[in-house]
Formats: sequence, structure tokens, C-alpha cells
Amino acid sequence: MMLDDVLVAIREAILKTVPISARITRIEFEGPEIAIYSANPTVLLEDDSIIKKIAKVIKKRIIVRSDPKIRLPKDKAEEVVKSLIPSEISLGGIAFDEEFGEIIIEVDKPGILISKFGDVLKQIMAMTKWRPKVARKPPKRSITIEWINKLMLDESAMRKKMLRTIGSRIHRPTILKTGEVRITCLGGFREVGRSAILVETSESSVLLDCGVKTGVSYSINEFPRLDASEFDIERLDAVVISHAHLDHCGFLPFLFKYGYEGPVYCTKPTRDLMALLQIDYLEVAAKEGSLTPYSMRDVREALLHTIPLDYGEVTDIAPDIRLTFHNSGHILGSAMVHLHIGEGAHNLVYTSDFKFGKTRLLEPATYIFPRVETLIIESTYGAPSDILPQRIEAEHQLIEIISQTISRNGKVLIPVLSVGRAQEIMLVLNEAFSMKYLPEIPVYIEGMVQEATAIHMAYPENLSRILRDKMLHEGENPFNNELFKLVPPRAEREEIIEGDPCIIIATSGMLTGGPALEYFKLMAPDARNTVIFVAYQIAGTLGRRVVSGVKQIPIVNRYGKSEIIQVNLRVHSIQGFSGHSDRRQLLGFMKRITPKPEKVIVCHGEEAKSVNLAETFRQLFKVNTYVPRNLETVRLK
Ligand code: ZN
Ligand code: ZN
Repeated sequence: MMLDDVLVAIREAILKTVPISARITRIEFEGPEIAIYSANPTVLLEDDSIIKKIAKVIKKRIIVRSDPKIRLPKDKAEEVVKSLIPSEISLGGIAFDEEFGEIIIEVDKPGILISKFGDVLKQIMAMTKWRPKVARKPPKRSITIEWINKLMLDESAMRKKMLRTIGSRIHRPTILKTGEVRITCLGGFREVGRSAILVETSESSVLLDCGVKTGVSYSINEFPRLDASEFDIERLDAVVISHAHLDHCGFLPFLFKYGYEGPVYCTKPTRDLMALLQIDYLEVAAKEGSLTPYSMRDVREALLHTIPLDYGEVTDIAPDIRLTFHNSGHILGSAMVHLHIGEGAHNLVYTSDFKFGKTRLLEPATYIFPRVETLIIESTYGAPSDILPQRIEAEHQLIEIISQTISRNGKVLIPVLSVGRAQEIMLVLNEAFSMKYLPEIPVYIEGMVQEATAIHMAYPENLSRILRDKMLHEGENPFNNELFKLVPPRAEREEIIEGDPCIIIATSGMLTGGPALEYFKLMAPDARNTVIFVAYQIAGTLGRRVVSGVKQIPIVNRYGKSEIIQVNLRVHSIQGFSGHSDRRQLLGFMKRITPKPEKVIVCHGEEAKSVNLAETFRQLFKVNTYVPRNLETVRLK
């Protein structure tokens, strides 16, 4: 069967089922979905059994769009929307995507509009013939989200064309059905950083994550081993990104620089956070005058090729591979990746970074899957000694250290990754202030953390149940505490350091650069001050050296001269805030995971930790375990 035959067969199946009155004008691929353009879409929308019937026959998701000729003029359509949206919902902007025939309606309560007023949306479609797409009006402006939304609208025609191409590739007829599956480890094995796993069948090839290793200089150890003979960019069907941390997505734009034109699958929050972090990666590198593997153009290109998916949404990404994301509890939008390969021949779950425990910010990771034969699991805290304190203890410890610092008139620096721990710490501080565990002192927050927090506010449905209820139903927003002071760009950090006691939350989390490093240089000599690390410190970073007790650090000062700074401030490292599962949680996850996998492959950990965890799994759970090295290939089936 040729490709055209596939589409012809799909068209025939559709036309056979759809009543003539629906007046179908076009049927085409739209990424993993099939778009049906109709000159009378009401017929299809009023009786959804027709679409369900077709979807069952052709086994694809279907999206009904209106033929451009029948759409109401934009100004008229806008009037209809304004007159129909109920008064309890506050309407933001209205935008039109002509290519896809969509009217994008921004409201403050999208959930209520969709669940309670579903009929209103149907009415909008019936009256205007534009397909309503409801978007959340972010409670706080995010430059990143605004930029991405504009980019998607501006490049809508290009995206449509691209989705057609991607669709025909996904739905190409299969030639070889051997049922074989193998993975090649391109990065992030027996190490933390540059995660990249190539999954291949006889038909297709998919890349899971494409990260960089931060804290090491520009070298072969910084990036995934795309030079491996198994990797062929021409053959790559899809890239799947588990979450926005740079060790999982920092190298993605490079693929586009080298000619990749296929899709990138991730959740919507991951897409937004990924853009923020990649742009920052470029800016930091530019500031340091170091080489960057790609440019802004490639970041933009990667974004344009992104197909966002929700948790639980099953999607064809290659002729013989189906993808589903599950919550992994690690950061906003983070996902475990489930691949259903070859009509059920094999099922693979890649946990990526996950937290098998509740945090203030997120719900714990999923552990129930439809099927799992192979599990690829992280091992950041895989050693027997990696038992992290309980969350509650960690919070007490944080508050205690801050109190002591304030009482000796010092200041607290908390270096964080802008995404995840920063927001978790903000939630703890917000609670501590409101319960009067801490006196009210300012918490200074710099640009990146502000922007990442604004993105968190845009996706309340992805946050923990308690937080979501607070934000959506109780009108409370813990991120808006007035003690959180946003530091304007290019503010004099010396002024903050010379002022009264305060807390500073700044990036980067391992003192490899960013405002945290600048504050550290200013604060280090004063013994009244404290630095509190709340995240894992990778070997080779300044953070790791400070934690291990180094007292003198050579730095380049603001005048470009090198000098030695004395580290007199107190150094604390609180482990319990990690977004990773500790040893106990890793074992707990293995005990609970349903169904039981046959093979377990351990990644994302220092060598000794990965090896130890694999051995423990083998003994306790009687599974075959592997701890492959980068560049190794493991046959799964
Ligand atoms: Zn991560
Ligand atoms: Zn990671």
C-alpha cells in the first residue's frame, strides 16, 4: 500500500459513514489526527455518534473543522461570542486562527466555561462556524506565554503544512513487522545530565529527551552522543520531551539546526517552561562569552514543531508506536512516557525524573499503567544512604535556619533552579509567614523565577489538588504574597545585601552562574549570612564545592579582575525538598508499579548509585536489571 492509498482508504471510510448533508469539502492529516472540513459541521457536532463511529473504524482521532467559505466574518463572530459568554465569566482577548478555523477565547475560568456552559460553546460553533478554543487568561502576565501564543498564530500556515507532513509520516504504511524493539543510550546513563534515549523498531525511531549536561565545559561529555551509528536524524520520527529541565531538553534545538523537521511531543506547560529555559541557556552562554550549540532561530523552530499533549491522551507518533504521558510529580508539566509499540508487542515506560511522594506543588507520580514490559527508571537518589528527610522535617529545618540567620542580622540566599524548587520554597515561606513561624521579612525574587512562577499560575489544573482548589475556587494565590518582592532587572544587588535581613531566591541552583552566583560573591565573606542549598549539586559545580566545605574560591569580580573570596557564611544543604524520589520512594514505586515490568533499566544517576539500585531491584523484585553505559544498545524484544 502506498501512502496515498492510506489516505484514500481513510477518506473512503469517512465518506461512507458521514451523511451527505454534512457536505465534506476536505479530509487531511493534521499531525496524529484527521481533520474533516465540512460546509455543514452542525450535522456532525449535533450527533457525535457519527464521529465516534468513524474514529472506531479508522482508529484515529478526528477533529471537525468548518469550510472557510461558511465562516461568519470576524467582527460578527466576535459579537456573537461576546453576547453568548455568561456574565459570571470574565472575557479576555479574542483571536482568530484562520488556517485552522479557530476562534481563541480567553477567559478567567476556562474550566467552568467548558464544564458548565458546554452548550454555549456548541452554540458559538453553530452560529459562527468558527471552532471555539478556550484559553486561560493568565492571572499574571507571562512574557513567554504571550510570545509563544503570538508565534503560533503568526506561523499558523506553516504549522498546518507541517502537521500535514507529520501526519502522512505517522500514518505511512508499514513494511517490516518484526516486533523487535531496542534502545540505544545516547546520554544520561551512569551519570546525571544530557538525557537522551533512542527507541527503535524495524519501522521507526523515536528519541526520548535530548538534554545537556550543565556544569561541564563545551566538550563531548556535555551533549548526547548523536554521533552513535544507530542515530540517524533523517529516520527520526519523533522527539518526546519528558520535562523542561535542561538536562532533558537543553539540546533539542540543535536537532532543528541539523535538519530535523519532525514533531516534538510534550505537555503544554513543558513547552512553555522549555522555551524559557532554553532562551536563558543561550543568554547565559552569551554573557559568559562561551559557544552555544544552537541559536534563537533553532529554539523558535523547535517550538513551532511542538505538539502539546495532555496526561492520559493516547497518540500515534509513528506507524507502530503510541505515546501516552502520565504525571511524574517532578516539576510543572513533567511526565512519565508510556510507549505502546507494535500493536501491543511491547510496552515501555520511561519514568524520567519523578517524585513518588506528595509535594506542596504537585501530586505524586502515577504508578498504574495499562501494560509495562520494560521500565527505564531514574536513580538520582539510588544509593542506600539516599534517604531524604521527610518533607515536614525539611520545612522545619529551613524555617529554623532562616530564623537563626535573621536573629544574627544576616541574610539568606537560596540558590534554586528557576522551575520547581523555587515555587515549592515560595509555598513553604508563604505558609511560614501566615502561620507566624517567621517574622515578616522581604523575599527577593529575580526575573527568571518570576517568569517561571507566572507560567505556574497559568496552569493551575496541573498543580496539586490543594493548590488548585485554592487558586481556582477559593480566590487565593499563595504566589502573590506581598512579601515576595520582584527585583527589577539591573537592580543594585549591593543595596539588597547592605539592607535589613531578607531572603533571596535566585538562579542558578548549583551556583554555576546567574544572579545566585552574584549574590553569593557579595554574601560569602559575611559570617552572619547563610546559603541554603535545596537541590542536588552535580559533581564539578561550584555548589558542590561549597557544600563540601571549600573556604576559598577564586572568582572574576565585576571589574573583570580575578580575586579570591573567603567563604565565611554558613552553608546548609537541605535534601528533603528534592523533586526526585529518594531511595525509599524508588523502592516504593517498584513495589507498587502495576503491572510488574519484566526488565528494568536504570539511568539518570551517578554510576555507583545506578548499579546499587539495579542490584537491589534484582534481589527484591526478581526482575532482570540493566545498567547500560552511554553508546550501548539494549534489545528489549
Ligand atoms: Zn528534572
Ligand atoms: Zn534530570
